[in-house]
Amino acid sequence: MSENILEIAGACKFFGGLKAVNGVSFTVARGEMLGIAGPNGSGKSTLFNLITGVPFGPTSGEVRFMGERIDRWPAHRISRAGLVRTFQKDAEFPALSAHDTLLVSATYNGQLSRAQAEARIDNAFRSVDFGQTRRSMPSRELSVYEKKQLMIASALISEPALLMLDEPASGLTKPEIQRLDDLLVAVNRSGVTVLLIEHVLSLLLSVSQRLIVLNQGSVLAAGDPHDVVKNPQVIEAYLGG
Ligand code: ADP
Ligand code: MG
Repeated sequence: MSENILEIAGACKFFGGLKAVNGVSFTVARGEMLGIAGPNGSGKSTLFNLITGVPFGPTSGEVRFMGERIDRWPAHRISRAGLVRTFQKDAEFPALSAHDTLLVSATYNGQLSRAQAEARIDNAFRSVDFGQTRRSMPSRELSVYEKKQLMIASALISEPALLMLDEPASGLTKPEIQRLDDLLVAVNRSGVTVLLIEHVLSLLLSVSQRLIVLNQGSVLAAGDPHDVVKNPQVIEAYLGG
């Protein structure tokens, strides 16, 4: 098996004349938690989009997952292969209970019996430490933090090898960010490789083993998180952006 779970080589995504992602290359080692930072509009979410094929693959470049080229695969095939991402927005089914939201994910994910689905749902809830009595609440009545837990649980339903999270800390208070920190570390330690886009640098510095900074669609700096954030070009990109 390949040591790198994900390999991106020369990935580009252009929207007309706008080079949203422009020649990005990096690898993600099996088992690591890799952070991705960058100013607003630097191409972070577009990078996730082109990796997962939702709603589109790259304009050019190669994406390999567990050694296989996936950049022309349809999105459902990518997620079934074990590469799953979350989005920046809130719960998709505000009227559905937390439990039934996970049931939708379990159903989307393939041919599980009801008993298998329930077992996965229970595992996913336990992985994110979701309160037993909250599971029957409609999603819209959950707290901001509980919605984040549900979003991550929903991604964990398919038992991904690689979990990609797009700004999960947005809208959270400091103590909630600390809880999220613990949660992400626990998920990572359970064997899930994590790719984490985040605005909250303190979280990235706390949980990431390596950090990549994007700026204007390209990799500005990569390496040890504490070194990367001291890089003068990185500081300039943040302050100047
Ligand atoms: P980030 O997530 O780093 O804030 P995005 O990846 O969302 O940045 O956006 C990068 C750039 O690509 C921005 O200039 C954004 O306006 C543009 N962009 C993103 N998605 C689209 C799209 N579907 N069509 C046109 N432009 C887009
Ligand atoms: Mg974004």
